[in-house]
Amino acid sequence: MNAINADATCALCAALLDARNRSKEHVIPNAIGGRLTTQTFICAACNNTHGHAWDAELARQTNWFSSSLGITRHRGEVPKERVQTIDGTGLWLRSDGTMAPEHPRSEVHETDGKVTIQIVARNIDEAHRMLKAARRKFPSIDVEKAKQEMEVKDEFLSSPLHVQLQIGGPEACRSIVKTALAYASTCGVPHLCCDAALGYLQHIDSPSPFGFAYTFEFVKARPSETVLHCVGLMGDPKRGILLSYIEYFGHFRFLVRLATHYSGEPVNASYAIDPVSGKEEHIDLDWNISDDQIRAIVDGTADVYPGMMKAAHHIIPIVLKRNEDRQRQRVIVEAFEYAAVSLGFRPGDAIPTAHSERFVALMMEKLSPYLHHLVARSNRPPALSDADPFWNGPSSQDA
Ligand SMILES: [Zn+2]
Repeated sequence: MNAINADATCALCAALLDARNRSKEHVIPNAIGGRLTTQTFICAACNNTHGHAWDAELARQTNWFSSSLGITRHRGEVPKERVQTIDGTGLWLRSDGTMAPEHPRSEVHETDGKVTIQIVARNIDEAHRMLKAARRKFPSIDVEKAKQEMEVKDEFLSSPLHVQLQIGGPEACRSIVKTALAYASTCGVPHLCCDAALGYLQHIDSPSPFGFAYTFEFVKARPSETVLHCVGLMGDPKRGILLSYIEYFGHFRFLVRLATHYSGEPVNASYAIDPVSGKEEHIDLDWNISDDQIRAIVDGTADVYPGMMKAAHHIIPIVLKRNEDRQRQRVIVEAFEYAAVSLGFRPGDAIPTAHSERFVALMMEKLSPYLHHLVARSNRPPALSDADPFWNGPSSQDA
């Protein structure tokens, strides 16, 4: 969707926008699943020098949500992210929601001339390379034979993950304000009305025009099962305010004061999207917020902690459930393929019913670590508590 902006100049450098320097800018960064674009907001040069870096930092800080939900981007995959369990083990979280050990490791034991090797690797090729490396120490190892006899096991996390749930720093914050400004632009608000936001984007030492919005619930009838991104705009010339509310992954919530004193047209608009499916959703925003409440949020004097924990309690179980559903599906597909290949079939072949008993046994063999993990996890205490910003992250590591 593209809206016409009367300015048709770049909001950041004031260059006239024409066919040569026009840039397709995502209102909500595509790196976190945003789809809506505008071509009348900033020029290609500004998008390349600032926009991408700001959005990349925001995407980096929210990467756990993107990876856990399986966000897809127009260009490039969601990068893997280093995460840590609360007992300090480093892991890589991949874009498909699986995990891999941060540091591959191997242990070799030799008893009565028989060599046993245990390898923890991120993939099978790495395991093969480590096997070759082990032969340098133990020349008796027959690498080809060991490859064939190698038993591959999935390992599942036994310790909860520690995840960062805040956004900060000049770049990620500018991405947020840029989104507010881009949305105002698509709603036909001239850039020059948004002096507070423009000043912040153009000058490194300008005061921040936004704050964490956890002391006021902007989303009316918040959906209970969906994870949404949303951006809203409200301009009231009588009160002299032009505000944007932004919410990412249902958890990160911001209020941006775009103008120091707004005297333009009244405006009230919102846009929401399921970042996984790309489907637009309708959402109603409540703008019944007092000047004092706005000031406390934007000046950073509001106590955000209780609201932030409440938001985390709402959204994290939804994200975890989505990730678990994806994991269950993946594990079952892998077990099916494992059984098929073990019986000499190719993935996708019909399996004759005469093989079904053996087939099911092979599937169960492959599923066994996952099922044990489910049983062990069912014995753990609840995932999230008010005092404790840690929670259980489900995911497998390849072993
Ligand atoms: Zn520009």
